[in-house]
Amino acid sequence: MEDKRYCRKCLLKDFDEEQYRSLIKKELDWMDDEMKAPDDMYARRLEICGDCDKLNQGTCAACGCYVELRAAGRRSSCPYKRW
Ligand code: SF4
Repeated sequence: MEDKRYCRKCLLKDFDEEQYRSLIKKELDWMDDEMKAPDDMYARRLEICGDCDKLNQGTCAACGCYVELRAAGRRSSCPYKRW
């Protein structure tokens, strides 16, 4: 198996789905618990994103963020004020 290294400048096309998921999970694991939204709030936000026409393969077309990371921040908000 090829041992490929990635950096913040890598594009999503450089990752396969499993690598992408593990990077998102790693970012969430690194986030300080005090900065994180409570689980129920996080789930509700992702549910709203899931029904949103701006959602595009895990990113928000309104702001370009990864919604699973944006929704994880306690003080984060939706650019369209949907949550
Ligand atoms: S952050 Fe807001 S605009 Fe973006 S996908 Fe989620 S609900 Fe839609």
